[in-house]
Amino acid sequence: MSHPILGLHHVTATVADAQEDLDFCLDLLGLRLVKKTVNFDNHNVYHFYYGDERGAPGTLWTTFPYKGWGVAVGDKGAGQVVTTSFSVPTGTLAFWRSRLTAQGVQVAEGRARFHDEVIAFRDRSGLVFELVAGDDNREAWNGTVDRASAIRGLHSVTMVVRDPKPTLSLMTGLLGYEIVDDMDGRVRMGVNGGGSGRLIDILYDPDATPARNGLGTVHHVAMAIADDDQQLELREALLVLGLKVTEVRDRQYFKSIYFREPGGVLFEVATMKPGFTVDEDVRNLGLGLKLPPWEEPHRAEIETKLPAITYG
Ligand code: ZN
Repeated sequence: MSHPILGLHHVTATVADAQEDLDFCLDLLGLRLVKKTVNFDNHNVYHFYYGDERGAPGTLWTTFPYKGWGVAVGDKGAGQVVTTSFSVPTGTLAFWRSRLTAQGVQVAEGRARFHDEVIAFRDRSGLVFELVAGDDNREAWNGTVDRASAIRGLHSVTMVVRDPKPTLSLMTGLLGYEIVDDMDGRVRMGVNGGGSGRLIDILYDPDATPARNGLGTVHHVAMAIADDDQQLELREALLVLGLKVTEVRDRQYFKSIYFREPGGVLFEVATMKPGFTVDEDVRNLGLGLKLPPWEEPHRAEIETKLPAITYG
């Protein structure tokens, strides 16, 4: 089969407090809340989707706020995405540095990453983010950050594995990635022409301790695929390789399959359609609590039990 992966689709993390997460992503990062729904595996927990105006695949950061459920703080390590990087325009890192520090967020100066300048910081849950400055002509959401400086979308993720060979073999084989750069134990993989939003960095460290899921950790990274047919074809090919792949799951805004790559990182492959305007007008994205049809009968109970939040 030809290589069907188009780039990143979304990154999903477990965070602590719902209100803190909204404040961080909307007020500080300037993303748009494109959908307020619930975790389809636990309807008493929110699922927030943040992105650009329409929540285009490749701009999406999504969270499950699990405070109050007895979930321990996770450990970052091998078999996990440890850093999520967003793309910002060239020349805006000074703006971002002062914006973040003014809100009490500690900013670390990263070394130049390949050819790009980078700053790093954490949210209140302990998740690690980077802003990477570079050319990216995707149109930003004009939210709390002026469009000229605003986040364009995902730039890349960084995942840690102990042995890079089997991971690289899967990614350069069936998934169609190419090695675009290599520096200091970090291999940069690009797909569909590479560039911002189409990159995954692999940090390899044979001594890395294993990751443990929990608050403040990334749960999975999703790659985009054009349609249902290509997704089914890829699923069959992954099964032939001996990987354990889930059935296709209806995520309401896209369809998904999940599997662990050989290094232990949970990968999802998600369709481009139907997208977030399937149940809300583009002007009103994120305003209502949207539930999939199978959860609508439980709406009253769900609304009572979800924590109160304010935004917008
Ligand atoms: Zn996902």
